[in-house]
Amino acid sequence: MFLKFHGATKEVGRSCVELAFSSNPSSAQNISYAGNKTRFLLDCGIKLTANSLEYPTKIENPQEINAIFVSHAHLDHTGYLPHLIHEGFNAPIYCTETTKETTRMLLEDAHKIEAAEHRHPGYETRDIEEVMQLTRPVNYRQEITAGNARCMFYDAGHIPGSSSILLNIAGKKILYTGDIKLEETRLIKGADTNYKENPDILIIESTYGSREHDSRAETEKKFLEQTNKTLNNGGSVIIPVFAVGRAQEILLLLSKEAKELNAPVYFEGMSKRVTQSYLARPSGLKSAEELRQAMKKVHFLKDEKDRANAVERQGVFISTAGMLSGGPVLNYIKHLGRDRKNSILLTGYQGEGTNGRSLINKGFVTIDNKIMDVKSKVFQYDFSAHAGASELKSLIQKTKPRITIINHGDFEEAESLADYARQFCKVYVPELDEEINVE
Ligand SMILES: [Zn+2]
Repeated sequence: MFLKFHGATKEVGRSCVELAFSSNPSSAQNISYAGNKTRFLLDCGIKLTANSLEYPTKIENPQEINAIFVSHAHLDHTGYLPHLIHEGFNAPIYCTETTKETTRMLLEDAHKIEAAEHRHPGYETRDIEEVMQLTRPVNYRQEITAGNARCMFYDAGHIPGSSSILLNIAGKKILYTGDIKLEETRLIKGADTNYKENPDILIIESTYGSREHDSRAETEKKFLEQTNKTLNNGGSVIIPVFAVGRAQEILLLLSKEAKELNAPVYFEGMSKRVTQSYLARPSGLKSAEELRQAMKKVHFLKDEKDRANAVERQGVFISTAGMLSGGPVLNYIKHLGRDRKNSILLTGYQGEGTNGRSLINKGFVTIDNKIMDVKSKVFQYDFSAHAGASELKSLIQKTKPRITIINHGDFEEAESLADYARQFCKVYVPELDEEINVE
């Protein structure tokens, strides 16, 4: 059996692992050998940076791939699906129902942005529809059969619908963690790591392979304190969020804990649509009822006119995008960012080259190709949806794999986790396009 890494090798982005095996393993020389074989993909993502879009390395003969297993909806795990369909892929895509619906929204949004910026996205909207047609929704802990493989999805605790995937192929067990978080948040439970069987081969993410997180409770406390302080000083609060997961977590936090806020909380656009979609399929949520109640406590802004009116008064504006790379949040910064009384509360990691990063490091953002100096106070909070290093290590300890393969983490993160795992098992930190024979 061969594993080939088309992306997410010593980097975060374009997750795509190819798995190829034959009923007659001795005939296999490498992944490209001719003959009767089965080929699966685990995820099929793109890498979005400030100035570029990177794809997985070449996937030969996509029409011969037998199935794709998708861990979760983020574009770095799904963004290449319509491209692959455009190139001839035509087989089942397995994921949870929530992942399916969220993927649809994210792909449509990405297509719209590409078209608006006059770039050709490389696929058509009908390819997104085709992704939906090929998708076979699965439930957590439901055993499914795909060709000669048995497979089970487990809640990965990363965003609603996210999954770790355990494959059993002719007795060989492979666990693909996808993006995983063990600790629960306000929105979702922590990962279900009571796998039915221990894997022989563990493919584990390493976004935080060398780092730990502050406790969530402490982060929430500081975040609420700053929100209140800003409002009490007569300022407004801008909260840039990712529409998928983070927006809902912040919504729950503000609605539950900050009853005394002396200004309205605003919520909008993509975040609202994703929340409604989660409520329609609440199985991945910790409490759908709480989320439903939270939605009743916020105000919705429909369009530019609404926004223009709202910014005239004090408010708390929860808005996309989380790294300020576009979206309505830039309008709030344009209107409110020159006032020292206001605060911008970043809710996660800010990628290199993004507006969020330049705001933290240099105090300015670029909007419509113009540089804008920001006078409002800027704070950053770690509401990460990824496991910290000790959680990743505990997962390796718990599952006792024979082989651990480390992906989805920058060089130092991946290497740090690899050093730990080498005490217990054989470890690979694959290079781009590397093929690993796991016989
Ligand atoms: Zn993710």
